[in-house]
Amino acid sequence: MKTTLNGTAVFLITLPTMGAEPLRDNPSMTTATDFQRDLDLGLTWLNTFSNLGEDFYTPVSPQALPQPYWIGRSEAVARELGLPAHWLASDELLHALIGNRVIAGTRPLASVYSGHQFGQWAGQLGDGRALLLGDTANGLEVQLKGAGLTPYSRMGDGRAVLRSSIREFLCSEAMHGLGIATSRALCVVGSDAPVRRETMETAAVVTRVAPSFVRFGHFEHFSYRDQHAQLKTLADHVIDRHYPHCRLDTGNPYAALLQAVCLRSADMVAQWQAVGFCHGVMNTDNMSILGLTIDYGPFQFLDAFDPGHVCNHSDTAGRYAFNRQPAIIYWNLSCLAQALLPLIGDQTLAIAALETFKTAFSAALEQKMRSKLGIPAHCEIESVQLRSLIEGILSLLAHERVDYTIFWRRLSHSDGGRNSEAVRDLFLDRAAIDAWLRDHAQCLAAVPTQQATELMLRTNPKFVLRNHLGEQAIRAAKAKDFSLVATLLTLLESPCDEHPGFDAYADFPPDWASGIEISCSS
Ligand code: AMP
Ligand code: MG
Repeated sequence: MKTTLNGTAVFLITLPTMGAEPLRDNPSMTTATDFQRDLDLGLTWLNTFSNLGEDFYTPVSPQALPQPYWIGRSEAVARELGLPAHWLASDELLHALIGNRVIAGTRPLASVYSGHQFGQWAGQLGDGRALLLGDTANGLEVQLKGAGLTPYSRMGDGRAVLRSSIREFLCSEAMHGLGIATSRALCVVGSDAPVRRETMETAAVVTRVAPSFVRFGHFEHFSYRDQHAQLKTLADHVIDRHYPHCRLDTGNPYAALLQAVCLRSADMVAQWQAVGFCHGVMNTDNMSILGLTIDYGPFQFLDAFDPGHVCNHSDTAGRYAFNRQPAIIYWNLSCLAQALLPLIGDQTLAIAALETFKTAFSAALEQKMRSKLGIPAHCEIESVQLRSLIEGILSLLAHERVDYTIFWRRLSHSDGGRNSEAVRDLFLDRAAIDAWLRDHAQCLAAVPTQQATELMLRTNPKFVLRNHLGEQAIRAAKAKDFSLVATLLTLLESPCDEHPGFDAYADFPPDWASGIEISCSS
């Protein structure tokens, strides 16, 4: 049944009832009567966020979609959740995740938050298409993204399309494979129900998992409304669950919270810069209070190294350019500091906590770049020498627009400088790269070659989720071939392994890759 709401096409699906045509792929597995019972996954649901009370959310049930199918599944995330792997092959879970069936023990809700978008206060936003099912006894929250309309959908349709859902699924697991703090993705399921974007597309739902989906914007929401009691409830919830040391270390747990978030965010963005990841929409509503990479939209792993690269086609001013990310995180943290000020109560303390970001970021980035260069933590090196080595190579890479991932991987295989031909081949200015390679070899003189090589090979990935790889998986998935999603998942789960036979996925991007335009539309 099709109707319209605020001019947006919406598909209303009637839940299956006794005697109705059961929605299932394998009739032997599920009966229509089964759908009337809640699905017991054997998980213990605590619903901690739900217990905060309805100032923080609105209870909302997922809206069903017809004829669901599996697109991608992560057994690793199932293990994290304590969900036996057989569920990822079951019709029952498939139907529950598409909204046809309730998962026993969950209390689905859409949370309310606000935020700064592209540098401007945007007011109330909220989970417009994501529903929190609850948190399990092992400390993980489970969300369905694309599960339908909520009171916070504003002009949106509450849905997510196939292409962006595949990108979020794969990138969540790719970031985890790289050792970068991130929300995880259990699976992505699809339906042929049409969803209108610039063209007609189809719907999908990502089941994502994280210890918390609380964002900076949740704090901004209550602070901007002078709802200080709710602000404190939220801060206490986050401290008790995720930062208990903030109560022990200091007389001001809220300043300690701010500092802890600064440190985690510094580490996260240092990892982004080191691996060449561009987030694309670093609005404060997309910033995790746990310093996790969340809300994958128009993200991109750099192909050619371009420090000013803007991956979000909608970001015409380049606010979220690759080289601005550390400054933007700091700007976002200052919004969080402002929001927490009523609880911290002392501006000097808030500023001191905020300022820890700067040294933490520099230290984290330096440590990550050392590893990329093969210089172990214990190896002493003059910081001027290290800085000149790092700045030297980044400026050469930028000048010649060298492929960022391929450069670092080839350097890792260069046998401590004895076998650098494949690296030299990447540069036109051979004199410049030779001079840099000599400096690098000199820095590595005191490090056993095997040790440097091992460090570099486990730091510099062979496989990253380049835009064109995601695009190929999406095109195949549109034709109902999900094998490339599975292949990429396997490669990206251990991106520093060689994976013999899959070198094509570690190659330079094809020419058409530079024409891929990814915007906020998802
Ligand atoms: P994003 O840029 O994806 O982080 O989204 C910003 C805000 O818009 C969040 O509150 C989202 O929940 C909401 N939103 C984005 N897309 C949709 C959609 N298709 N339907 C409803 N809300 C949406
Ligand atoms: Mg978002």
